[in-house]
Amino acid sequence: DETGNGDDDRDVVVCVRVRPLLEGETQRGLFPAVTTTPANTTEDKIFVHSVEKKVTGLPRLATKDFGVDHAFGQTSLNEEVYQKAARSLIPIALGGGVGSLFASGQTGSGKTHTMTAIENMIARDLFQFAREYRCQQDGLKLEDVSDSADFEYRASFFELLGNKARDLLNYPTEVSILEDVLGQVQVVGVTEEQVKTPDELTSIISRGSSFRKTIGTAKNDTSSRSHAICRIKIKNLRRLEAEEGVLYLLDLAGSESASDSRNHDKERMQESVEINKSLTTLKDCIRNRALAVVSTKHIHIPYRNSKLTVLLKSAFELSSVRACKTVVIATINPNILDTNHSLNTLRYVSPLKVE
Ligand code: ADP
Ligand code: MG
Repeated sequence: DETGNGDDDRDVVVCVRVRPLLEGETQRGLFPAVTTTPANTTEDKIFVHSVEKKVTGLPRLATKDFGVDHAFGQTSLNEEVYQKAARSLIPIALGGGVGSLFASGQTGSGKTHTMTAIENMIARDLFQFAREYRCQQDGLKLEDVSDSADFEYRASFFELLGNKARDLLNYPTEVSILEDVLGQVQVVGVTEEQVKTPDELTSIISRGSSFRKTIGTAKNDTSSRSHAICRIKIKNLRRLEAEEGVLYLLDLAGSESASDSRNHDKERMQESVEINKSLTTLKDCIRNRALAVVSTKHIHIPYRNSKLTVLLKSAFELSSVRACKTVVIATINPNILDTNHSLNTLRYVSPLKVE
């Protein structure tokens, strides 16, 4: 749209980002089989090309297309993805609502690359938005306001692997996700660090991420099979009676892990079952909530079906006073050998786009 901030009034925004081929992939002679509509076309689409072998006659090129809210192509920059897909979550959370961002896709498709950049840009802009808020409230000019003490921010970073959650700011302490008698979800035992500057937030994010990287390079790679969750709680100190806002920034488990049956190790199998259940339930919850918003009938939102969605319960609640916004970024490795993974990813996210 004209503002460039996009989608400000939509509850669910579905994006796809296709990463470029890496040098090694090009050197192996691989080529991309997924493309996007050129920038600034009215309808964003993504195309998956494949060679269809016919029983008789010559093979032909077949193309499947998927409609999304934003299709970011191989040359897209992190800043552009952030501006169009993530930035609008900040005012939601500062306003006491729930803003959630998910990166989903196969391992190696660019989830962490995208999320890390977005997390850092959120750290940068969160405090800028707070300054603007203070100016609005007090009728001041932006140049006269160097910071804002209107909000208190508390950041946590943890991961969910199978049924276990671990604190990434105090690794490997186990934490538990519980729904209390009032229906509030608590992450019991997790570190909550108060942050007062963008740099403090950035450094928490890199601390959490570096733990994940270390674990990820170990022989038994868990980073592709765990969901990494950065949670930023925001309290408006001018309105202590108001609900706290929250941002959930999720780097989801590699989607291929959901059906990983290479290994008959019991724990691994159990993890795959859990990943599958959490990704399926997440999709159902996002979609059913979007349908419930526009429907007069009761629509069940099955958040209790997985630990991940229990954690995110507040993102699926229907409230007339609390805004909820969800952005999904599906990441794609476009090389021809991964076409089936790309199709799975697109089939997973495209039903989330509600007209
Ligand atoms: P995932 O987290 O989905 O497993 P990564 O984010 O680790 O994937 O990305 C895999 C590799 O691809 C990394 O080397 C990363 O730097 C590179 N990469 C991912 N997305 C992009 C992009 N948009 N532009 C350039 N390189 C990228
Ligand atoms: Mg990753």
